Amino acid sequence: MMKYCLSLLLLLGLLVSCTNEKKSAPQLDQATAQKYMAEISSDYYEGRRPFTRGEKRTVEYLKKEIQAMGLEPVAGSYTQDVPLVEIVGHQGETMTLKTQNGEMILEKNEDFVVHTEGNQAEINMEDAEMVFCGYGIVDKSRNWNDFEGQDLKGKVAVVMINDPGFGGEDSTFFKGDEMTYSGRWTYKYEEANRQGAVGLLIIHETASAGYPWYVIKSSWTGTLLGIKKKDTDADCPIKGWISRDQAIALFENSGLDFTETIKSARKPGFKALPLNATCSVSLKSDFKEDVSQNVLGMIKGSKYPEEYIIYTAHWDHLGISTAVEGDSIYNGALDNASGVAAVMSIAKAFSEEGNRPERSIIFLFVTAEEQGLFGSLYYAENPLVPLDKTVCNLNMDGVNPIGAMKDFTIIGLGNSTMDEIAEEEAKKQGRYILPDPDPSKGYFFRSDHFCFVKVGVPALYGEGGYEHEEKGVEYAKEYKELYLEKHYHQPSDEFDPATWNFEGMMQDGQLYLNIGHRLANSREWPEWKEGSAFSR
Ligand SMILES: [Zn+2]
Repeated sequence: MMKYCLSLLLLLGLLVSCTNEKKSAPQLDQATAQKYMAEISSDYYEGRRPFTRGEKRTVEYLKKEIQAMGLEPVAGSYTQDVPLVEIVGHQGETMTLKTQNGEMILEKNEDFVVHTEGNQAEINMEDAEMVFCGYGIVDKSRNWNDFEGQDLKGKVAVVMINDPGFGGEDSTFFKGDEMTYSGRWTYKYEEANRQGAVGLLIIHETASAGYPWYVIKSSWTGTLLGIKKKDTDADCPIKGWISRDQAIALFENSGLDFTETIKSARKPGFKALPLNATCSVSLKSDFKEDVSQNVLGMIKGSKYPEEYIIYTAHWDHLGISTAVEGDSIYNGALDNASGVAAVMSIAKAFSEEGNRPERSIIFLFVTAEEQGLFGSLYYAENPLVPLDKTVCNLNMDGVNPIGAMKDFTIIGLGNSTMDEIAEEEAKKQGRYILPDPDPSKGYFFRSDHFCFVKVGVPALYGEGGYEHEEKGVEYAKEYKELYLEKHYHQPSDEFDPATWNFEGMMQDGQLYLNIGHRLANSREWPEWKEGSAFSR
């Protein structure tokens, strides 16, 4: 009798919990995640470089898998063409600066680099006037305009990297040492286009840039990739960098003290200064157009199908390149087969759930992240569903292979109410929230979520990584340092089923799934916070 009662109670309990948890999130399956991980990071995909056989194979595989899950196409297709252009630049050997105190001859790659994002095969810039425009920033919310009263047409703007807050005492002036978007070179390029300058030269400084000159040299010479532009006549055709030493010499030859001038550029009310100098440089460029692909699929919402949650992970990596210890395939296991595997597993779990979510969920695997976030940038500029109906973006880029963490570290904490949503869900996993430990590096601007942020869609980008559940803070730190030193963007970023601990991927993946599930079954719209540089 007792036994029956108990069984009945259990049965009742089960029924109750079934009905109550009708909306509980589906669970990620580790075997599924492992299968995706092993596949996508294998040598067969040849490092997944855009435009290669590796791309074809990756796109085919992802497409086949999401179709098998029963995901629907978006705007009639499982892929989005991303027209890109490969640009090989041939800089003139030297750049000539004519100053009040005579001519300066700068050597290419050692003293300057220039390239074009436009479509002119040959550019000969001759004796263009140079103007020092502080940090090259126009920011209405901060009442800041480095171009005030200047007409840059036909002129070269010379600007500092980073923003006026960097290296100062005041963490509320801009954001102190934390880089704001206007401190990034990408912003400065965009502003130079808006100002109609004929050239932009960014003054490099190791501390402010976050990397030494050799990174400039290797990043901006050789083959560059860009989004194919429709009409680039209006854009600033010559963009580049000059070394700090040459900038100091140029300022001196213009009768300006470099240190004092930079100091004044950091104060409100700074006015751009003509350098009484001109710049001549030439640049030839070869262009090759090609089309890469974003891959995507959708689970249509049952109640609000016109509102969308978008998961992203970049499928691309560096391909086959310089061999290191006999290995030339850059598998990019962590970067970013792991994120793709996690998002694929999330898609699979949602697709197997009995109940459709109320809102639609899109799983978007973007291309060409490594060369400049081009797949996500292209999507943001050519969205397949309306941006104002896009509730949020949930982006995964690199999931730790060493196990579960006590923290969930949010890159770009403080921008939107995605923080609070993530915090509530992380707490249910027994985890705490942390901000980016190194915000001066600008990581917030360096993965695909940022392209959504720029067009006003709140986004989440984070991962556990500070405190290992069993082995603590030091262990996690040592792993991170080892990865950055030995494996980041190296052929050795490989999947090893024997040593990889999948608990981290399961934990972060489940958290991402729970957040998406919650937002897909609510009327909640994450909002931008006051003081954030972004808005809908
Ligand atoms: Zn990468």
